[in-house]
Amino acid sequence: MQLTVLGCWAPYPRAGGACSGYLLQDGDINIMLDIGHGSLSRLMQVLDFRSLTALVITHFHPDHYSDVYALRHAVAGAIRDKSRQGPLTLLMPSEPAANFTEISGYGDAFAVKAIDSLSPDSYSGTGNWQLGGLKLRFMPTVHKKPCYAVRIEGLTQFVYTGDTAYSSELVDFFRGADLLLSEASGFDSDTSILSGSHMTARQAGELGRLAGAKKLMITHFWPEYEQADLLTQAQESFGSKVELAREGRTYKI
Ligand SMILES: [Zn+2]
Ligand SMILES: [Zn+2]
Repeated sequence: MQLTVLGCWAPYPRAGGACSGYLLQDGDINIMLDIGHGSLSRLMQVLDFRSLTALVITHFHPDHYSDVYALRHAVAGAIRDKSRQGPLTLLMPSEPAANFTEISGYGDAFAVKAIDSLSPDSYSGTGNWQLGGLKLRFMPTVHKKPCYAVRIEGLTQFVYTGDTAYSSELVDFFRGADLLLSEASGFDSDTSILSGSHMTARQAGELGRLAGAKKLMITHFWPEYEQADLLTQAQESFGSKVELAREGRTYKI
């Protein structure tokens, strides 16, 4: 399994950068996790969009889904000119209903599954989805809009927080991951501002340590912040080296 960071900024990108978007690959399976501003362009630098197996949208904040409107046209065009066979599987929350209904209407490009209607999973209590040799598991997070953390299990285990406040329930869901990709939206001094919707870098480190993650990578950076300082606060609570998500880089899991 390998992860390529397509975009790591939120809620707007740095110059030349992109918001949340990640490409998770295992053999011939290519899963895009979130598709924020600029991330589709970044995807095309590393993979032909026709080769996507599935897209997961964790929630309907623009920095996690806005490029779906561009991908819709790309995929629909590829189906029309027969350079791609069939719609792209798109897993996303069913709420807010207005977002779900709108994007579900793009049947010329997407075969939509509501994450919250997938068959219940004994592990997380929420949905799960089998994709070739990979199992995708989902768990609701604590956020301003309905959002799901993702766990992808193959020969190794990858987990992604999506957007979330700190929650002890996530500790169990992320347990023993080989790589935990965690949002780290601010400094200790932002704790009250982020409360109820996001984690500080220190909380991301704490989550990783309690979950026993073998490796922690932080992401979802406010563009004006110094990443090295976020890294320091995450490492202090994680207790060992933490990786910064860097756009365009690929990491083995
Ligand atoms: Zn976000
Ligand atoms: Zn969000």
